[in-house]
Amino acid sequence: MDTPRGLQFFMHPGPTNIPERVRQAMARPAVDFTAPYFCELRDRCLERMKGVLKTKKGFVIVYAASGNGAWDASIANVFSPGDKVLVPTTGFFTDRWANTARAYGLQVELVETPERRAIDPEAIARHLAADRKHDIKAVLVVQNETATGMRHPVAEIRRAIDKTNHPALYMVDTISSLASYDFRMDEWGVDLVIGGSQKGLMLPPGMSFTAINDRTWQAAQVAKNPRKYWDWRPMIDNRRQVHFCGTPPITHFYGLEVSLDMIEEEGLENVFARHRRLADATRACVRAWGKGGGPEIWSLDPEAASDSLTAVLVPQGHDADRVRAIANDKYSVALGRGLGALQGRVFRIGHMGDLNEPMLLGSLAAIELALAEAGVPHARGGVDAAMDSLRAPVGKRVAAVA
Ligand code: PLP
Repeated sequence: MDTPRGLQFFMHPGPTNIPERVRQAMARPAVDFTAPYFCELRDRCLERMKGVLKTKKGFVIVYAASGNGAWDASIANVFSPGDKVLVPTTGFFTDRWANTARAYGLQVELVETPERRAIDPEAIARHLAADRKHDIKAVLVVQNETATGMRHPVAEIRRAIDKTNHPALYMVDTISSLASYDFRMDEWGVDLVIGGSQKGLMLPPGMSFTAINDRTWQAAQVAKNPRKYWDWRPMIDNRRQVHFCGTPPITHFYGLEVSLDMIEEEGLENVFARHRRLADATRACVRAWGKGGGPEIWSLDPEAASDSLTAVLVPQGHDADRVRAIANDKYSVALGRGLGALQGRVFRIGHMGDLNEPMLLGSLAAIELALAEAGVPHARGGVDAAMDSLRAPVGKRVAAVA
């Protein structure tokens, strides 16, 4: 490995770059978490998170845990052993959430989604329509499948559920989409949201949350699953989190307040527009590399390609991990690896969170060099294509919230 010099370009699809302002805010001593100072900070953050989730009806429950913890909380609190949930498969992360459900004794009915395609809402409608006895208690969807870089149609799935008049709860994992592209808890009728700190929210890993509405809260009162750490009941008073099971993630709250400031200063819709712009440039680059049989964007449907990361499929017989190793060791550009069945077949370029054009262009240039050095066939000119994409006029900026 060459001696690393200069900046490391961290292009992972989570955790993501932590802005200096957030790091500074977190570099402070812990305080008594029962003191008014912390309680007020907690209340402010929980309230402001609702803006990012676009909810007035829901409330947020935070855990000192990674995203897996929020999955556990969603299953432990809402269901009883033997309950059935419907999971449209999208890859690595739905497999894992489904396994969490199985670990609590739930029955998981899968709706298979064809590889490299978005979930078909009609397929969900068919399953629900066939469930005449309403045995299915919830539909579990990952909005942004981080393993494949695909976005799934949350609003359309709500409409499909409504069409069948099925009472199933609708639960959506937004871990790698929240604060990167649009999500609307109330408008899209989402009953439970899963979120995490380490992606669009630009914080370190270790804080996750669920946001729930009154239907989900009611379901938690009758659910029989065993729960202790995740139990909402002692944490919530009048739709407000007032306790944590154990010590809260105090320093994450310092950071969260600043990350919410940053999002509000930029304006949430502008944050989305920036993500779209960087994602478009990345996709233009990969499409240029792919001319004549080179790497491809994993999503076959352009509309379903994620704005928070791009999964790049290398041609058969080539090793995506070799590209990653060269990019990392020689050019200090850290990329995400292929997960599960996609290991060695894809590398993932994270373009979410605290990122700008030069960071992206520098990284794409380094990846282009790494493709050549790894002997992966590709057309040159990817970075030019990304620059052309960035030259396209920027839409009118939306006024910031702050
Ligand atoms: N859900 C999605 C969509 C994810 O991308 C991740 C992690 O990357 C998780 C859940 C699990 O979160 P964690 O790794 O923080 O436990």
